[in-house]
Amino acid sequence: MAKEHLLKKHKDTDYKKKADAFCEDYKAFLTTAKTERLCVEYFTEKAKANGFTDVLASQGVKAGDKVYYVNKNRSLVLAVIGEEDIENGINLVAAHIDSPRLDLKPAPVTEEGGFSYLRTHYYGGIKKYQWVATPLALYGVVVKKNGETVKIAIGDGENDPIFMITDLLPHLASKQMGQKMTEGIPGEKLMVLSGSNPDLDAESEEVKGALLKILEEKYSISEEDFYSAEIEVVPQGAARDVGFDRSMVASYGHDDRVCAYTAFQALLETGIPKKTAVVLLADREEVGSMGNSGMQSRFLEYFLEEVNPSARINKVMANTVCLSSDVAAAFDPMYADVYEKQNSPIFGCGLTLLRYTGSRGKGGSSEASAELVAYIRNIFDANNISYQFAELGKVDEGGGGTVAQYIANLGADVIDAGVALLSMHAPYEIAHKMDVYEAYRAYIAFMTAR
Ligand code: MN
Ligand code: MN
Repeated sequence: MAKEHLLKKHKDTDYKKKADAFCEDYKAFLTTAKTERLCVEYFTEKAKANGFTDVLASQGVKAGDKVYYVNKNRSLVLAVIGEEDIENGINLVAAHIDSPRLDLKPAPVTEEGGFSYLRTHYYGGIKKYQWVATPLALYGVVVKKNGETVKIAIGDGENDPIFMITDLLPHLASKQMGQKMTEGIPGEKLMVLSGSNPDLDAESEEVKGALLKILEEKYSISEEDFYSAEIEVVPQGAARDVGFDRSMVASYGHDDRVCAYTAFQALLETGIPKKTAVVLLADREEVGSMGNSGMQSRFLEYFLEEVNPSARINKVMANTVCLSSDVAAAFDPMYADVYEKQNSPIFGCGLTLLRYTGSRGKGGSSEASAELVAYIRNIFDANNISYQFAELGKVDEGGGGTVAQYIANLGADVIDAGVALLSMHAPYEIAHKMDVYEAYRAYIAFMTAR
Protein backbone atom coordinates (compact mmCIF):
# COMPACT_ATOMS: atom_id res chain seq x y z
CA MET A 1 0.00 0.00 0.00
CA ALA A 2 3.03 2.26 -0.42
CA LYS A 3 2.10 5.46 -2.16
CA GLU A 4 4.08 6.35 -5.23
CA HIS A 5 4.68 9.90 -6.34
CA LEU A 6 3.14 10.53 -9.76
CA LEU A 7 6.43 11.96 -11.03
CA LYS A 8 8.15 8.62 -10.27
CA LYS A 9 5.31 6.52 -11.58
CA HIS A 10 5.30 8.32 -14.92
CA LYS A 11 9.01 9.16 -15.11
CA ASP A 12 9.61 7.98 -18.67
CA THR A 13 6.53 9.61 -20.20
CA ASP A 14 5.24 13.08 -21.07
CA TYR A 15 2.93 12.97 -18.03
CA LYS A 16 4.62 15.89 -16.28
CA LYS A 17 4.49 18.00 -19.42
CA LYS A 18 0.77 17.30 -19.80
CA ALA A 19 0.08 18.04 -16.13
CA ASP A 20 2.00 21.32 -16.33
CA ALA A 21 0.14 22.39 -19.48
CA PHE A 22 -3.22 21.43 -17.97
CA CYS A 23 -2.47 23.57 -14.91
CA GLU A 24 -1.60 26.63 -17.01
CA ASP A 25 -5.23 26.73 -18.19
CA TYR A 26 -6.43 25.86 -14.70
CA LYS A 27 -4.51 28.83 -13.26
CA ALA A 28 -6.05 31.19 -15.82
CA PHE A 29 -9.51 29.93 -14.79
CA LEU A 30 -8.80 30.43 -11.08
CA THR A 31 -7.61 33.97 -11.71
CA THR A 32 -10.74 35.00 -13.61
CA ALA A 33 -13.52 33.08 -11.81
CA LYS A 34 -13.34 34.17 -8.18
CA THR A 35 -17.06 33.91 -7.35
CA GLU A 36 -19.70 31.24 -7.92
CA ARG A 37 -21.46 33.53 -10.41
CA LEU A 38 -18.24 34.00 -12.37
CA CYS A 39 -17.69 30.23 -12.34
CA VAL A 40 -21.18 29.68 -13.75
CA GLU A 41 -20.47 32.27 -16.47
CA TYR A 42 -17.07 30.77 -17.27
CA PHE A 43 -18.32 27.19 -17.54
CA THR A 44 -21.49 28.14 -19.42
CA GLU A 45 -19.56 30.11 -22.03
CA LYS A 46 -17.02 27.34 -22.44
CA ALA A 47 -19.78 24.72 -22.62
CA LYS A 48 -21.59 26.66 -25.35
CA ALA A 49 -18.36 26.91 -27.32
CA ASN A 50 -18.11 23.12 -27.06
CA GLY A 51 -21.61 22.44 -28.39
CA PHE A 52 -23.66 22.41 -25.19
CA THR A 53 -27.17 23.90 -25.33
CA ASP A 54 -29.62 25.03 -22.66
CA VAL A 55 -31.69 22.02 -21.59
CA LEU A 56 -34.71 24.30 -21.14
CA ALA A 57 -34.63 25.05 -24.88
CA SER A 58 -34.21 21.42 -25.97
CA GLN A 59 -37.01 19.39 -27.58
CA GLY A 60 -36.02 16.05 -26.09
CA VAL A 61 -32.49 14.71 -26.02
CA LYS A 62 -30.69 11.80 -27.67
CA ALA A 63 -27.36 10.06 -27.11
CA GLY A 64 -24.45 12.38 -27.67
CA ASP A 65 -26.41 15.57 -26.97
CA LYS A 66 -24.74 18.01 -24.62
CA VAL A 67 -26.92 20.12 -22.36
CA TYR A 68 -26.58 22.48 -19.42
CA TYR A 69 -28.90 24.01 -16.85
CA VAL A 70 -28.10 27.26 -15.05
CA ASN A 71 -29.76 27.36 -11.64
CA LYS A 72 -30.27 30.85 -10.14
CA ASN A 73 -27.01 32.06 -11.76
CA ARG A 74 -25.09 30.37 -8.94
CA SER A 75 -25.09 26.66 -9.66
CA LEU A 76 -24.86 24.66 -12.85
CA VAL A 77 -25.58 21.16 -14.14
CA LEU A 78 -24.04 19.88 -17.37
CA ALA A 79 -24.54 16.54 -19.10
CA VAL A 80 -23.47 14.52 -22.07
CA ILE A 81 -26.40 12.24 -22.84
CA GLY A 82 -25.48 8.55 -22.87
CA GLU A 83 -26.72 5.61 -24.89
CA GLU A 84 -28.76 4.15 -22.04
CA ASP A 85 -31.97 5.45 -20.48
CA ILE A 86 -31.21 7.59 -17.43
CA GLU A 87 -33.37 5.21 -15.37
CA ASN A 88 -30.34 2.91 -15.51
CA GLY A 89 -28.53 5.58 -13.55
CA ILE A 90 -26.16 8.39 -14.41
CA ASN A 91 -22.45 8.84 -13.77
CA LEU A 92 -22.44 11.95 -11.64
CA VAL A 93 -19.51 14.11 -10.57
CA ALA A 94 -20.57 16.78 -8.07
CA ALA A 95 -18.31 19.62 -6.97
CA HIS A 96 -18.94 23.06 -5.50
CA ILE A 97 -18.00 26.49 -6.79
CA ASP A 98 -18.43 28.65 -3.69
CA SER A 99 -15.36 29.35 -1.56
CA PRO A 100 -14.79 30.90 1.86
CA ARG A 101 -14.65 34.70 1.71
CA LEU A 102 -15.98 37.92 3.21
CA ASP A 103 -19.39 39.14 1.98
CA LEU A 104 -20.39 42.80 2.24
CA LYS A 105 -23.13 43.41 4.79
CA PRO A 106 -26.52 44.70 3.50
CA ALA A 107 -25.63 48.21 4.69
CA PRO A 108 -21.84 48.14 4.42
CA VAL A 109 -20.73 51.74 3.90
CA THR A 110 -19.51 53.56 6.97
CA GLU A 111 -16.88 56.00 8.16
CA GLU A 112 -14.78 56.11 11.25
CA GLY A 113 -11.95 58.42 12.28
CA GLY A 114 -11.37 59.86 8.84
CA PHE A 115 -11.55 56.60 6.88
CA SER A 116 -14.36 55.07 4.86
CA TYR A 117 -14.98 51.34 5.27
CA LEU A 118 -17.12 48.52 3.96
CA ARG A 119 -18.48 46.25 6.67
CA THR A 120 -18.30 42.50 6.01
CA HIS A 121 -19.80 39.23 7.23
CA TYR A 122 -17.61 36.21 6.63
CA TYR A 123 -18.89 33.27 4.60
CA GLY A 124 -17.74 29.74 5.37
CA GLY A 125 -14.99 28.55 7.66
CA ILE A 126 -12.19 31.09 7.78
CA LYS A 127 -9.37 31.88 10.18
CA LYS A 128 -10.09 35.59 10.55
CA TYR A 129 -6.49 36.59 11.22
CA GLN A 130 -5.56 35.42 7.69
CA TRP A 131 -7.65 38.16 6.10
CA VAL A 132 -5.97 41.23 7.58
CA ALA A 133 -2.99 43.03 6.05
CA THR A 134 -3.36 41.09 2.78
CA PRO A 135 -4.40 42.48 -0.64
CA LEU A 136 -8.09 42.03 -1.41
CA ALA A 137 -10.38 42.50 -4.40
CA LEU A 138 -14.13 43.08 -4.73
CA TYR A 139 -16.32 41.01 -7.03
CA GLY A 140 -20.06 40.68 -7.43
CA VAL A 141 -23.26 42.19 -8.67
CA VAL A 142 -25.49 45.05 -7.68
CA VAL A 143 -29.05 44.59 -8.92
CA LYS A 144 -30.94 47.85 -9.10
CA LYS A 145 -34.67 48.15 -8.48
CA ASN A 146 -35.34 48.32 -12.23
CA GLY A 147 -33.59 44.95 -12.66
CA GLU A 148 -30.43 46.38 -14.16
CA THR A 149 -27.36 44.45 -13.01
CA VAL A 150 -24.09 46.27 -12.38
CA LYS A 151 -21.10 43.93 -12.33
CA ILE A 152 -18.34 44.76 -9.88
CA ALA A 153 -14.76 43.56 -10.38
CA ILE A 154 -12.17 45.77 -8.72
CA GLY A 155 -8.68 44.79 -7.65
CA ASP A 156 -7.29 42.42 -10.26
CA GLY A 157 -7.15 44.80 -13.24
CA GLU A 158 -3.67 46.09 -13.96
CA ASN A 159 -4.49 49.65 -12.89
CA ASP A 160 -7.13 48.80 -10.29
CA PRO A 161 -6.86 49.86 -6.68
CA ILE A 162 -6.81 47.01 -4.18
CA PHE A 163 -8.45 46.80 -0.77
CA MET A 164 -7.01 46.04 2.65
CA ILE A 165 -8.15 45.27 6.17
CA THR A 166 -5.72 46.79 8.63
CA ASP A 167 -3.93 44.97 11.44
CA LEU A 168 -2.30 46.30 14.56
CA LEU A 169 1.42 47.07 14.50
CA PRO A 170 3.42 44.65 16.71
CA HIS A 171 4.65 47.56 18.84
CA LEU A 172 1.13 48.06 20.20
CA ALA A 173 -0.15 44.50 19.93
CA SER A 174 0.98 42.90 23.17
CA LYS A 175 -2.63 42.49 24.34
CA GLN A 176 -3.79 41.25 20.92
CA MET A 177 -0.90 38.80 20.62
CA GLY A 178 -1.80 37.27 23.98
CA GLN A 179 -5.36 36.51 22.85
CA LYS A 180 -6.60 33.23 21.41
CA MET A 181 -6.32 33.17 17.61
CA THR A 182 -10.12 32.95 17.37
CA GLU A 183 -10.43 36.21 19.30
CA GLY A 184 -7.46 38.28 18.14
CA ILE A 185 -9.38 39.56 15.11
CA PRO A 186 -13.14 39.80 15.86
CA GLY A 187 -15.55 39.43 12.93
CA GLU A 188 -16.78 43.02 13.26
CA LYS A 189 -13.24 44.29 12.76
CA LEU A 190 -13.04 42.75 9.27
CA MET A 191 -13.82 46.16 7.78
CA VAL A 192 -12.48 46.87 4.31
CA LEU A 193 -10.51 50.12 4.15
CA SER A 194 -12.06 52.00 1.23
CA GLY A 195 -10.92 55.63 1.28
CA SER A 196 -9.47 58.48 3.28
CA ASN A 197 -10.10 61.70 1.37
CA PRO A 198 -12.94 63.97 2.54
CA ASP A 199 -15.74 65.18 0.31
CA LEU A 200 -15.19 68.93 0.00
CA ASP A 201 -18.94 69.59 -0.46
CA ALA A 202 -20.18 67.62 2.55
CA GLU A 203 -20.60 69.01 6.06
CA SER A 204 -20.67 65.74 7.97
CA GLU A 205 -19.70 62.18 7.11
CA GLU A 206 -17.19 63.68 4.76
CA VAL A 207 -15.23 60.54 3.94
CA LYS A 208 -18.28 58.32 3.58
CA GLY A 209 -19.83 61.00 1.38
CA ALA A 210 -16.74 61.03 -0.81
CA LEU A 211 -16.91 57.23 -1.21
CA LEU A 212 -20.64 57.32 -2.06
CA LYS A 213 -19.93 59.98 -4.68
CA ILE A 214 -17.31 57.78 -6.36
CA LEU A 215 -19.68 54.80 -6.31
CA GLU A 216 -22.40 56.95 -7.90
CA GLU A 217 -20.12 58.42 -10.54
CA LYS A 218 -18.17 55.29 -11.49
CA TYR A 219 -20.78 52.56 -11.01
CA SER A 220 -24.13 54.44 -10.86
CA ILE A 221 -24.95 52.78 -7.55
CA SER A 222 -26.40 54.39 -4.45
CA GLU A 223 -26.02 53.46 -0.80
CA GLU A 224 -29.45 51.77 -0.87
CA ASP A 225 -28.43 49.67 -3.89
CA PHE A 226 -26.16 47.65 -1.58
CA TYR A 227 -29.34 46.16 -0.11
CA SER A 228 -29.74 44.23 -3.36
CA ALA A 229 -26.11 43.43 -3.99
CA GLU A 230 -23.96 40.33 -3.67
CA ILE A 231 -20.42 41.60 -3.33
CA GLU A 232 -17.63 39.32 -2.19
CA VAL A 233 -14.30 40.37 -0.76
CA VAL A 234 -11.73 37.86 -2.02
CA PRO A 235 -7.94 37.64 -2.13
CA GLN A 236 -6.41 39.83 -4.82
CA GLY A 237 -3.95 38.39 -7.29
CA ALA A 238 -3.43 35.60 -9.78
CA ALA A 239 -2.87 31.90 -9.25
CA ARG A 240 0.91 31.32 -9.16
CA ASP A 241 3.40 28.47 -9.24
CA VAL A 242 4.96 27.55 -5.89
CA GLY A 243 8.49 26.39 -5.26
CA PHE A 244 11.77 26.32 -7.19
CA ASP A 245 10.52 23.26 -9.05
CA ARG A 246 7.16 24.92 -9.80
CA SER A 247 5.45 21.69 -8.80
CA MET A 248 2.54 23.33 -6.97
CA VAL A 249 -0.07 26.05 -7.52
CA ALA A 250 -1.09 28.63 -4.93
CA SER A 251 -4.46 30.26 -5.44
CA TYR A 252 -7.62 31.48 -3.88
CA GLY A 253 -10.51 29.04 -4.35
CA HIS A 254 -8.89 25.65 -5.07
CA ASP A 255 -11.65 24.50 -2.67
CA ASP A 256 -13.51 23.46 -4.64
CA ARG A 257 -12.91 24.97 -8.04
CA VAL A 258 -10.12 22.44 -8.57
CA CYS A 259 -12.71 19.65 -8.68
CA ALA A 260 -15.21 21.79 -10.61
CA TYR A 261 -12.63 22.60 -13.29
CA THR A 262 -11.20 19.09 -13.62
CA ALA A 263 -14.70 17.55 -13.72
CA PHE A 264 -15.83 20.04 -16.36
CA GLN A 265 -12.75 19.43 -18.51
CA ALA A 266 -13.28 15.69 -18.13
CA LEU A 267 -16.90 16.03 -19.31
CA LEU A 268 -15.64 17.71 -22.48
CA GLU A 269 -13.63 14.52 -23.16
CA THR A 270 -16.34 11.91 -22.61
CA GLY A 271 -17.50 11.38 -26.22
CA ILE A 272 -20.82 9.50 -26.22
CA PRO A 273 -20.87 7.64 -22.89
CA LYS A 274 -22.87 4.54 -22.16
CA LYS A 275 -24.57 6.18 -19.19
CA THR A 276 -25.37 9.87 -19.17
CA ALA A 277 -22.40 11.74 -17.71
CA VAL A 278 -23.37 14.62 -15.46
CA VAL A 279 -21.27 17.29 -13.80
CA LEU A 280 -23.02 19.24 -11.06
CA LEU A 281 -21.46 22.44 -9.73
CA ALA A 282 -23.20 23.49 -6.52
CA ASP A 283 -23.23 26.69 -4.52
CA ARG A 284 -23.35 27.13 -0.73
CA GLU A 285 -21.39 24.01 0.23
CA GLU A 286 -19.22 26.06 2.55
CA VAL A 287 -22.25 27.05 4.63
CA GLY A 288 -24.03 23.70 4.75
CA SER A 289 -25.51 23.37 1.24
CA MET A 290 -28.76 25.08 2.27
CA GLY A 291 -30.71 27.32 -0.08
CA ASN A 292 -32.02 26.97 -3.62
CA SER A 293 -28.57 26.99 -5.19
CA GLY A 294 -27.18 24.48 -2.67
CA MET A 295 -27.08 20.69 -2.84
CA GLN A 296 -29.94 20.30 -0.37
CA SER A 297 -32.34 21.82 -2.92
CA ARG A 298 -33.95 19.93 -5.80
CA PHE A 299 -32.26 21.36 -8.86
CA LEU A 300 -30.55 18.10 -9.87
CA GLU A 301 -33.91 16.32 -9.92
CA TYR A 302 -35.45 19.20 -11.83
CA PHE A 303 -32.63 19.01 -14.38
CA LEU A 304 -33.15 15.25 -14.81
CA GLU A 305 -36.87 15.81 -15.39
CA GLU A 306 -35.97 18.23 -18.17
CA VAL A 307 -33.61 15.64 -19.68
CA ASN A 308 -36.32 12.98 -19.63
CA PRO A 309 -39.76 14.01 -18.37
CA SER A 310 -40.96 10.40 -18.24
CA ALA A 311 -38.02 9.07 -16.20
CA ARG A 312 -38.73 7.99 -12.62
CA ILE A 313 -36.26 10.15 -10.72
CA ASN A 314 -36.16 7.81 -7.73
CA LYS A 315 -35.10 5.00 -10.05
CA VAL A 316 -32.52 7.21 -11.73
CA MET A 317 -30.98 8.07 -8.39
CA ALA A 318 -31.12 4.51 -7.03
CA ASN A 319 -28.99 3.39 -9.99
CA THR A 320 -26.64 6.37 -9.92
CA VAL A 321 -23.01 6.38 -8.87
CA CYS A 322 -21.61 9.72 -7.75
CA LEU A 323 -18.15 11.05 -7.10
CA SER A 324 -18.62 13.83 -4.57
CA SER A 325 -15.63 15.76 -5.76
CA ASP A 326 -14.22 17.96 -3.09
CA VAL A 327 -10.82 18.79 -1.73
CA ALA A 328 -9.13 16.91 1.09
CA ALA A 329 -6.58 17.89 3.74
CA ALA A 330 -3.15 16.79 2.54
CA PHE A 331 -0.68 15.53 5.11
CA ASP A 332 1.29 18.58 6.24
CA PRO A 333 4.55 17.74 8.08
CA MET A 334 4.43 21.16 9.77
CA TYR A 335 1.23 20.08 11.53
CA ALA A 336 1.84 16.33 11.61
CA ASP A 337 0.25 15.93 15.05
CA VAL A 338 -3.32 16.39 13.75
CA TYR A 339 -2.93 13.74 11.03
CA GLU A 340 -2.82 9.96 11.14
CA LYS A 341 -0.36 9.63 8.29
CA GLN A 342 -1.26 6.16 7.05
CA ASN A 343 -4.81 7.39 6.35
CA SER A 344 -3.89 10.84 5.06
CA PRO A 345 -3.48 11.98 1.46
CA ILE A 346 0.14 12.49 0.44
CA PHE A 347 0.88 15.35 -1.96
CA GLY A 348 1.62 14.30 -5.53
CA CYS A 349 0.32 10.75 -5.06
CA GLY A 350 -3.01 11.08 -6.84
CA LEU A 351 -6.73 11.35 -6.24
CA THR A 352 -7.92 11.26 -2.63
CA LEU A 353 -10.88 8.99 -1.86
CA LEU A 354 -12.81 9.36 1.38
CA ARG A 355 -15.42 6.75 2.17
CA TYR A 356 -16.83 9.11 4.78
CA THR A 357 -16.15 12.54 6.22
CA GLY A 358 -17.97 13.84 9.31
CA SER A 359 -16.51 14.21 12.78
CA ARG A 360 -15.87 12.04 15.84
CA GLY A 361 -17.97 8.87 15.50
CA LYS A 362 -18.46 9.49 11.75
CA GLY A 363 -21.17 11.98 12.77
CA GLY A 364 -22.83 14.01 10.02
CA SER A 365 -21.68 11.96 7.05
CA SER A 366 -22.76 9.34 4.57
CA GLU A 367 -20.46 6.38 3.95
CA ALA A 368 -19.57 4.63 0.73
CA SER A 369 -20.41 0.91 0.77
CA ALA A 370 -17.80 -1.78 0.26
CA GLU A 371 -19.52 -2.68 -3.04
CA LEU A 372 -19.21 0.89 -4.33
CA VAL A 373 -15.57 1.14 -3.29
CA ALA A 374 -14.78 -2.12 -5.09
CA TYR A 375 -16.49 -0.80 -8.23
CA ILE A 376 -14.51 2.47 -8.10
CA ARG A 377 -11.17 0.72 -7.44
CA ASN A 378 -11.79 -1.47 -10.45
CA ILE A 379 -12.42 1.51 -12.76
CA PHE A 380 -9.37 3.44 -11.56
CA ASP A 381 -7.05 0.42 -11.69
CA ALA A 382 -8.22 -0.39 -15.22
CA ASN A 383 -7.31 3.16 -16.26
CA ASN A 384 -4.00 3.36 -14.37
CA ILE A 385 -5.30 6.12 -12.08
CA SER A 386 -3.40 6.76 -8.84
CA TYR A 387 -5.68 7.05 -5.85
CA GLN A 388 -5.28 7.01 -2.09
CA PHE A 389 -7.83 6.28 0.60
CA ALA A 390 -7.90 8.79 3.42
CA GLU A 391 -9.69 10.36 6.34
CA LEU A 392 -9.87 13.99 7.43
CA GLY A 393 -7.19 14.12 10.13
CA LYS A 394 -7.07 12.16 13.37
CA VAL A 395 -10.31 10.64 14.66
CA ASP A 396 -10.73 13.01 17.61
CA GLU A 397 -9.23 16.07 15.98
CA GLY A 398 -12.18 17.75 14.26
CA GLY A 399 -13.94 17.06 11.01
CA GLY A 400 -15.95 18.39 8.13
CA GLY A 401 -18.40 17.48 5.42
CA THR A 402 -19.16 17.73 1.72
CA VAL A 403 -22.19 17.47 -0.56
CA ALA A 404 -21.88 13.64 -0.46
CA GLN A 405 -24.54 13.07 2.18
CA TYR A 406 -27.18 15.10 0.32
CA ILE A 407 -26.69 13.11 -2.88
CA ALA A 408 -26.67 9.89 -0.87
CA ASN A 409 -30.02 10.96 0.59
CA LEU A 410 -31.43 10.88 -2.95
CA GLY A 411 -30.52 7.20 -3.15
CA ALA A 412 -27.28 7.32 -5.12
CA ASP A 413 -24.06 5.50 -4.23
CA VAL A 414 -21.60 8.24 -3.32
CA ILE A 415 -17.92 8.44 -2.50
CA ASP A 416 -15.81 11.55 -1.92
CA ALA A 417 -13.07 11.86 -4.51
CA GLY A 418 -10.94 14.96 -4.91
CA VAL A 419 -7.66 16.80 -4.74
CA ALA A 420 -5.68 17.14 -1.51
CA LEU A 421 -4.63 20.66 -0.50
CA LEU A 422 -2.22 22.35 1.85
CA SER A 423 -3.53 25.40 3.77
CA MET A 424 -7.14 24.55 2.92
CA HIS A 425 -9.54 27.49 3.45
CA ALA A 426 -6.67 29.99 3.64
CA PRO A 427 -6.78 32.98 1.27
CA TYR A 428 -4.16 31.15 -0.80
CA GLU A 429 -4.43 27.36 -0.82
CA ILE A 430 -1.86 25.04 -2.40
CA ALA A 431 -2.44 22.12 -4.77
CA HIS A 432 0.02 19.75 -6.45
CA LYS A 433 -0.11 20.06 -10.25
CA MET A 434 0.01 16.31 -10.79
CA ASP A 435 -2.82 15.70 -8.33
CA VAL A 436 -4.90 18.21 -10.31
CA TYR A 437 -4.15 16.43 -13.57
CA GLU A 438 -4.76 13.00 -12.03
CA ALA A 439 -8.20 14.15 -10.85
CA TYR A 440 -9.03 15.14 -14.42
CA ARG A 441 -7.91 11.71 -15.67
CA ALA A 442 -9.88 9.98 -12.93
CA TYR A 443 -13.10 11.83 -13.76
CA ILE A 444 -12.79 10.90 -17.44
CA ALA A 445 -12.31 7.24 -16.45
CA PHE A 446 -15.33 7.38 -14.16
CA MET A 447 -17.71 9.11 -16.55
CA THR A 448 -16.89 6.87 -19.47
CA ALA A 449 -17.16 3.62 -17.46
CA ARG A 450 -20.03 1.06 -17.87
MN1 MN B 1 -14.99 21.95 -0.40
MN1 MN C 1 -14.36 24.00 2.06
